[in-house]
Amino acid sequence: MPGTPFDARTALAHLARGAREERLVHVRHLPRREAELVPWPTWVDPGVYAAWSGAGITHLWSHQAEVAALARAGRHTVCATGTASGKSLGFLLPVLTALAEGSHAPTGRGATALYLAPTKALAADQLARLEAMAVPGVRAAVYDGDTPPDERRWIRDHAHYVLSNPDLVHHGLLPGHRHWAPFLRALRFVVVDECHVYRGVFGSHVSAVLRRLLRVAARYGSRPTVLFASATVADPATLAGALIGQEVTAVTRDGSPREATTFALWEPPMLSEDTRRSAVSETSSLLADLVLQDVQTVAFARSRVGVEAVAAATRRDLADVNPALAPRIAAYRGGYLPEERRELERALRDRDLLGLAATTALELGIDIEGLDAVLIAGWPGTRASLWQQAGRAGRAGAESLAVLVASDDPLDTYLVHHPEAVFEAPVEASVFDPENPHVLTPHLAAAAAELPLTEADTEWFGPSVPALAEALVAGGVLRRRPAGWYWARPDRPSDHVELRGIGQTVRIVESRTGRVLGTVEEARADAAVHTGAVYLHQGQQYVVTELNLANAAAQVVAGDPGWSTQARSVSEFHILSTAREVWWGPGHLCFGSVEVTTQVTSFLRRLPTGEVIGEHPLDLPRRTLSTVAVWWTLPEDELALAGIGEAEIPGALHAAEHASIGLLPLIATCDRWDIGGVSTALHPDTGLPTVLVYDGHPGGAGFAEQGFRQAEVWLTATLEAVRACACAAGCPSCVQSPKCGNGNDPLSKPGAVGVLDHLLTGR
Ligand SMILES: [Zn+2]
Ligand SMILES: [Zn+2]
Repeated sequence: MPGTPFDARTALAHLARGAREERLVHVRHLPRREAELVPWPTWVDPGVYAAWSGAGITHLWSHQAEVAALARAGRHTVCATGTASGKSLGFLLPVLTALAEGSHAPTGRGATALYLAPTKALAADQLARLEAMAVPGVRAAVYDGDTPPDERRWIRDHAHYVLSNPDLVHHGLLPGHRHWAPFLRALRFVVVDECHVYRGVFGSHVSAVLRRLLRVAARYGSRPTVLFASATVADPATLAGALIGQEVTAVTRDGSPREATTFALWEPPMLSEDTRRSAVSETSSLLADLVLQDVQTVAFARSRVGVEAVAAATRRDLADVNPALAPRIAAYRGGYLPEERRELERALRDRDLLGLAATTALELGIDIEGLDAVLIAGWPGTRASLWQQAGRAGRAGAESLAVLVASDDPLDTYLVHHPEAVFEAPVEASVFDPENPHVLTPHLAAAAAELPLTEADTEWFGPSVPALAEALVAGGVLRRRPAGWYWARPDRPSDHVELRGIGQTVRIVESRTGRVLGTVEEARADAAVHTGAVYLHQGQQYVVTELNLANAAAQVVAGDPGWSTQARSVSEFHILSTAREVWWGPGHLCFGSVEVTTQVTSFLRRLPTGEVIGEHPLDLPRRTLSTVAVWWTLPEDELALAGIGEAEIPGALHAAEHASIGLLPLIATCDRWDIGGVSTALHPDTGLPTVLVYDGHPGGAGFAEQGFRQAEVWLTATLEAVRACACAAGCPSCVQSPKCGNGNDPLSKPGAVGVLDHLLTGR
């Protein structure tokens, strides 16, 4: 009821009453934080100050002032503070001030700035906010794939502040940089917003694009200052620095205010020896309970299917107890018309709706200020997403409740039992490899087409430039001349490089409409979209009617056949070279180059209960992936000391492999689909029992390397997750994997504990 202060602790105590007490694993009270206010810097342009002070903003939060001062001094800066901490204002002050000052130049454009967002929607959003401030003398415009040709020309010639995305820089701005010459000549700032999303292969691509941009700008005489905004991640200075290959200063002390939150970590109960209640079912029960207490709540689930399930189960629960409440639950899956969204916002404001189940599409979709509680069904992948979702609860001046409900996954198991990994200094790093030759080589070709490549370009792209350029010469892509390497082909190199993957992709086509739903990398297509596969796209289920590799297309029809599918495959690997190694007593840990060969051989159909209702052979090619991996070995006699007999070795290693893949996202922002694993009781290259975890993209994406670097943290967490799981013989919360090519067989949970414990003892 409006006006009644919400008491989060009482609401939580009610949820955890009686037999449910043990499901409440941890409670953290995050106190209210006062804002740290500082005055506006005196150098800010009066027009800029007038715009913000007119909107009632006459002081800055400390981190905004810090970012502004560093940027004004020309230092590359990254601001990594919490959600809703006003990161934009920190970079807008120096940028808009420079643009306003530049507007007095004879050309009317003495300074320009380029803003890059990962999505078009975010760039449009930034423009709308900027236009609302109406800063005099600053002409801002969005320039993306949808901008009409006549407007493009006007923007290139006249705009001060251009809002765009890395794809446009790659496909448009850089290949046509001569049209952008006046803009580039005056380029003072480049803003890279939400830079933590540039990770893995995408991160390597965006890094190459930014370096190409800075290189071309330098040719026009400008050395812009690069300003990054990031969610809180481990070591943002290193992340941002790797994106441009230069030193970047981090601002991480958050001066924005925060209301108090009671944050609970919740683990669903075991239903039998090896089955845990799902996060979706448990979240439905909690949602019903909160609604019965008249607590207005939003419950986040990862997929549309999950959202529908939460809403339906909650309504069912309520129908038994208080039927009048059942209609006050709604599901929100994104993709709604504006009027539908406004109606939903109204229903929430008027408390006609008490419970809302939503996908994360809600983050951009509707305004839900003023809710009391948030339920999060399953770890959302990163701490940034967690705080973003938790932050959706809370009215000004009131505390809020957030509950993370663990899903059936080793990472979730670990996190609910290790609150320090959720609440204290982040350990997950946003990683990528800026030197992955599979990514860098085509970008060097593109760079050579923009401006001939020379030895001096190692300044931008690192020491591998000459070798990679010579390889391009051998391939007929570049030509070597005395002054450098030149583009040697008639077409445009940027047309050959897509920023969001490597190599060939397979299109996923809806048969009925011919609409392309998305793409999947060819190497992954065999397992994900083989003929007969049930494929989940943005939470919607599809059945693949045909995978045609020659046409690079998978035909799908929408629908839920009532079963899921799991591909079976055989994998083996060869070690090509060891780049780094460390000994933990008898244990040997390595990082290096490998070749992983995989063939998808059949698929299983499973009912929701897990029961297998058929295995169907597939005729698919053997595929070889050149990538990087982290691997470790322990001699057989050491395994015997750990109590693992010969017959148990394959299951022990396999279980340890699965769990460690599940825990890698703790230290590197990847998901388990970005990485793969192989374990073997005797590997020909090592001559020993070996467990290998590899990056699932050609050339690697930085995840395995981070695993090697943080091996102790990673494998200790893996051991603890398996040990903490209450199941008897292994379950999806510890050692079973949803993507196992061997149908999760053999697996030994006690063996995994023994082998990991023994390995870690030697360190
Ligand atoms: Zn388990
Ligand atoms: Zn497996």
